[in-house]
Amino acid sequence: MPLNWLTLALPALLLMLSGCSPHPVPEIDSNNAYGLVTRLVSFGKRYAGTEENRKQAEFIVAKASEYGASVSVDRFTCPTSAGLIEFANITAEIKGKSSDFVIIGSHYDIKKIASAPDFEGANDGASSSALLLEMIRAINASGYIPPVTLKFVFFDGEECQIAYSENDGFWGSRNYAEKLKNAGLSSKCKAVVLLDMIGDADLGVTLPANSDRKLVEKVLESAGKIGCSQYFSSTNFEILDDHQPFLLHGIPSIDIIDFDYGPGNAYWHTDADKIDKISKKSLKIVGDCVLRLVLTSIY
Ligand SMILES: [Zn+2]
Repeated sequence: MPLNWLTLALPALLLMLSGCSPHPVPEIDSNNAYGLVTRLVSFGKRYAGTEENRKQAEFIVAKASEYGASVSVDRFTCPTSAGLIEFANITAEIKGKSSDFVIIGSHYDIKKIASAPDFEGANDGASSSALLLEMIRAINASGYIPPVTLKFVFFDGEECQIAYSENDGFWGSRNYAEKLKNAGLSSKCKAVVLLDMIGDADLGVTLPANSDRKLVEKVLESAGKIGCSQYFSSTNFEILDDHQPFLLHGIPSIDIIDFDYGPGNAYWHTDADKIDKISKKSLKIVGDCVLRLVLTSIY
């Protein structure tokens, strides 16, 4: 039946001729992402250097491996105002068509806060880390080959002991950026896309001024392509976060953060940062936007 044969073969032939990938851009499974946030929160007080933090790290390693990434752990010790702390950065890699790479980052430690003993860090720590895991699953399950290698990096020690500065907090990202530079790999790192506090039901991503301008445009463009422009805006204020050490090394970096968490940011670093504030829809919006960015438009 030549007609049927042609009907079946034509789309494949056209795809081959156009050079397009037969795989559509993968999408986030919001139920799985939300389940992962819940799981990370269940490890308890995941302050850097604690048993709870270490057990959470083991879970992240196991889950990223189960989802098909090549995982490595880099442990290092730093002197802090609370004494020597051992930190662990986790890198989960998906090989792309090129060995140039993009880092998609999140911190997985949570802040120890005397005034908030029940702080869970559902949004500040767990939401973005869970979303990274779900992105790994979505990409590998789809068979989509990224144009460049993707390094999903789970940073430890983002939170400071006393006050955020060049010597307190950002322990994981500072260490990672320094090692990248010392290994002569900074130029192969095409971008750093950091996620932080992205699960709030009242989503309003506030891209800070200390972000690479082109990346800001690309994120807004990707948000438009998935029909979610209303949730993303660039701001004129700066936010110190794990993208900063990479900016200082000359690597284009952006912080995808919703720093408007509760009325007047009232849920930030308080006992209110609990799983009941997390929305499946918000996880999906940010995850789908970032997948589109890193898989199709960042280059
Ligand atoms: Zn925080």
